[in-house]
Amino acid sequence: MDELKVPKYIDRNRNILRRIEFAIETGKLVVKKSQDKYSNIVEEKSKSTGTTKVLSKNDVSLMGLVLELMDTYPEDIILYTNDYSMENLCTMLKIRFKPLYKKGIEEKMYFEVYCPYCKTLQKPEDLNKKCERCGLHLKKRLLKKEKL
Ligand SMILES: [Zn+2]
Repeated sequence: MDELKVPKYIDRNRNILRRIEFAIETGKLVVKKSQDKYSNIVEEKSKSTGTTKVLSKNDVSLMGLVLELMDTYPEDIILYTNDYSMENLCTMLKIRFKPLYKKGIEEKMYFEVYCPYCKTLQKPEDLNKKCERCGLHLKKRLLKKEKL
């Protein structure tokens, strides 16, 4: 929450902050801090693997909370992260994790390059060139989308 409220990004994050606050009010989201003994386990492990420098205090605290929840809740606990260093440490601490996909990389798009006049297909690397037959600027169009 503190990271979202940084003055520099407050305008950009206003929407997500409102949604988080709503989720807290309605009990869908619980904000919790890990007990020291659990974040200490993460801290120690990250020291022994040399990832201390790349993990922020919040990263360590978050992973500590996951360990605490694994210890105190019967449900499967999953950490959502795109951080490679965290994933690495999760593996060593036997924490289950899943990636968070950002919008836009959920599908891969393929384009083809063609001449809008003579309709010939051209090589993708020629996109910014002109058609050799009619001299028009080549264009690209969506060929297919592939779910990732
Ligand atoms: Zn052409």
